[in-house]
Amino acid sequence: MTAIGVTVLGSGSAGNSIAVTSAGSTVLLDCGFSARETVRRLEACSIDASSVVALLVSHEHSDHVRGIRVLAKRLGVPVYASRGTRRAASLDALVADVREIRAGAPLALAGMTVTAFPTSHDAAEPLGFRFDAESGDSLGVLTDTGALTPEAHETLTSCSALGIECNHDIDMVETGPYPWFLKRRILSDRGHLSNTAAAEALSRLASGTLTSVVALHLSRTNNTAALAFASLCGELDRLGHPATVATAAQEAPCIL
Ligand SMILES: [Zn+2]
Ligand SMILES: [Zn+2]
Repeated sequence: MTAIGVTVLGSGSAGNSIAVTSAGSTVLLDCGFSARETVRRLEACSIDASSVVALLVSHEHSDHVRGIRVLAKRLGVPVYASRGTRRAASLDALVADVREIRAGAPLALAGMTVTAFPTSHDAAEPLGFRFDAESGDSLGVLTDTGALTPEAHETLTSCSALGIECNHDIDMVETGPYPWFLKRRILSDRGHLSNTAAAEALSRLASGTLTSVVALHLSRTNNTAALAFASLCGELDRLGHPATVATAAQEAPCIL
């Protein structure tokens, strides 16, 4: 039992949200579902919506911010985002209490220390996050990035849990139905991590403290849960590492 509760409410191009709970308080990372659906999923996982003390936004894409206006109002909580995301998502027009978070400047939230780092994605100022509880448990979240940035590498070493984007299988993108410009975007270093790139990132981040890994943001068109799972498990096997692997889904929550 970790002192950080990690519940992926859902993950994929139709909506992303992760509830991170410590000592009875919850931070929601991204609000890509409607407010009603977000609360429904929280309750389905026995997380009281009134335990949410802050909303964190990684970047302005709609699969990460769709429910932010209604949810922030309904819960009466502040929204934290980078300056670039704040502007690009027009957060000040949507939310009463917007606060800025900067890469490399840790923040105390819900009894945890939250540290942001820059990701490499086609957004204004996208961030990834690490959550550290006083107990020493920690969660790193690396998603919506075309590369493991040096800052991500530095920040995410020695986490006890990791969420890593496994967006696509490269062959499925190349032979699949997407138009060429979209294929080029997905495969670029400002797009999304492939299963192969996620495994490479995992090999660089898997320290002795790591106990669990969850694959995030799987594409319905360009990936399968089995391929993502096999890619991460294969890497851990190669390393002789005992961490467990789960795959998050779009339709239903996944509790770590
Ligand atoms: Zn996304
Ligand atoms: Zn995105």
